[in-house]
Amino acid sequence: MHFKLLNKAGSKEVVELHGSAYRVMCLGCKSNYDRGYIQEKLKDTNPNFKEDSGIIRPDGDVEISTERLSEFLPPTCDNCGGILKPDIVFFGDNVPRPRVNLVNENLLEGDSLLILGSSLTVFSAYRIVLKALETNKNVAIVNIGPTRADELVKLKIRVRCGEILPLIC
Ligand SMILES: [Zn+2]
Repeated sequence: MHFKLLNKAGSKEVVELHGSAYRVMCLGCKSNYDRGYIQEKLKDTNPNFKEDSGIIRPDGDVEISTERLSEFLPPTCDNCGGILKPDIVFFGDNVPRPRVNLVNENLLEGDSLLILGSSLTVFSAYRIVLKALETNKNVAIVNIGPTRADELVKLKIRVRCGEILPLIC
């Protein structure tokens, strides 16, 4: 589930189920960094590596040749020199347990669950819908395409979130 827009709007009580590309974490000591800070370190340690070195894919990945890759120096953790990665749950990783617990606590406190702009293909998100239904919550989905839970919920609105949300807000 993607909550970036909620954060940009100033929401403070947002749970980013799959993390955020705006943060970077150290795999060694678990230090956290702002992505902007790491971006500056990237530029400083790779002054000859221009941003137009490759084609940026929709997922943010950049294709570069093996030859160019050998020139690239990834930034390391200021604290321990460890390997850095975006603070994102990648495919095959698990959502951290404290984050799952927080989502479950929020779910139990509410009486309804509104899914916006997710296909619920990833099980960690689909599981939230299942939990909501098991605990008799009202569940509605707004998504332009089919979702994994379409057959399970009573209300599904097939529209782009960008079209309907401005009408609500
Ligand atoms: Zn570290």
